[in-house]
Amino acid sequence: MPGHGGTAPRILLIEDDPIIGEHLRAGLAAHGYNATWQRTGTAGMIAAQSQVPDVVLVDLGLPDMDGVEVARTLRSRQPDLLIVIVTARDDDLDVVVGLDAGADDYLTKPVSITVLLARLRAHLRTRPAPGTSAPLRAGPLVLDPATRRCLLGTVPVELRPKEFDLLAALLAAPGQALSREDLMARVWDENWFGSTKTLDVTMASLRQRLDAAADADLAPPAITTLRGYGYRLEATQA
Ligand code: CA
Repeated sequence: MPGHGGTAPRILLIEDDPIIGEHLRAGLAAHGYNATWQRTGTAGMIAAQSQVPDVVLVDLGLPDMDGVEVARTLRSRQPDLLIVIVTARDDDLDVVVGLDAGADDYLTKPVSITVLLARLRAHLRTRPAPGTSAPLRAGPLVLDPATRRCLLGTVPVELRPKEFDLLAALLAAPGQALSREDLMARVWDENWFGSTKTLDVTMASLRQRLDAAADADLAPPAITTLRGYGYRLEATQA
């Protein structure tokens, strides 16, 4: 069973459709997840504060507000929360807006329980147990998987979970070209299929956050885009 400290992962489902909601709730419960279900964005955000779930699944089309707004609010309150958008809108623009708002991943309806479970396993697995990994370094940049902290010199860099995991994958192989497929598999899911826009959006926000922490004397290592292939974190002199 994936989980934190041996307890069942807590999943909060925010979905107004009674059939889809029950399908997902029952499927999660049948596989050992502690799943609760709210029907509105407002109720979902209240539940997220009181229950402190591991993962929130949020529908984009809610009766009282847009799921993107829910994702944005949850992200600002709980930086470490895993947020997965569930959308019937099979539209790249919605997905990009949702990921920009702070979601880590998205699923398109109709949601297969098998796919949902695979994604949840992948997300919950990418968080290493404390004390198991040594810090990763490149020049002034230090990333500590044990504490999930990132420092540029002495400046803390706040990263979302997938930004952190992406930077960790790059820092683990400085100077090496990493393909898009390899990065998707390491950071998201070995069985990832569909749009890799998620990678582009996450990379763009990772670069923004590193640049925001930089100043004239303190530059993060460059991440080079390899057109048609992937990315490379440039090795720096110690
Ligand atoms: Ca809906």
